Amino acid sequence: MVPRPAAPPPLTLVQSLVNTRELLEDRDDLSTPAGLAAWAEAEGLPGLARPAEADLTRVRRLREALRQLLGGGAGLPGAVSVLNGELARTGTRPLLQAGPPGAEFTGDCTTSLDAAITRVLAAVVTARLDGSLSRLKTCGAEDCQWAFYDRSPNAASRWCETSVCGARHKMRAYRARQAAGTATR
Ligand SMILES: [Zn+2]
Repeated sequence: MVPRPAAPPPLTLVQSLVNTRELLEDRDDLSTPAGLAAWAEAEGLPGLARPAEADLTRVRRLREALRQLLGGGAGLPGAVSVLNGELARTGTRPLLQAGPPGAEFTGDCTTSLDAAITRVLAAVVTARLDGSLSRLKTCGAEDCQWAFYDRSPNAASRWCETSVCGARHKMRAYRARQAAGTATR
């Protein structure tokens, strides 16, 4: 598919984490600790050379909470609870710095995984406060849920790609109408 342009930083990090799993293709880059190390390196998150299984489990849980957060709906309270748990665990909090404004967060960061998660959480909180988080959405197709950044003027996009998931949705709705028509005949 032709990808939409990526989200602006720091949301790119959140988008990248959510999209390590591609439901339509049944692909999961975070299926092994080595996969987590490769993703962290690609994102410039240092020190995660040899993550443990428990680290992988933790990041995958964070990832699915983020997917729920972007998608809204019934899973939202659970997702927020996972994210608040990680904020507490990492001690992520605002910290004003001298110099130009930037991503002004710090954390207790006893491990490099804590530091990486602090970066993700700081991006979420920053984007939530400036409103840009509402434009990072998951595709409305249940079997897709790809995270995309909605740059449309009224922020009303539902599909990662209208030509792909929007078209599939239309086709399914058409078939459902056809089937219903056949059933009542
Ligand atoms: Zn989609």
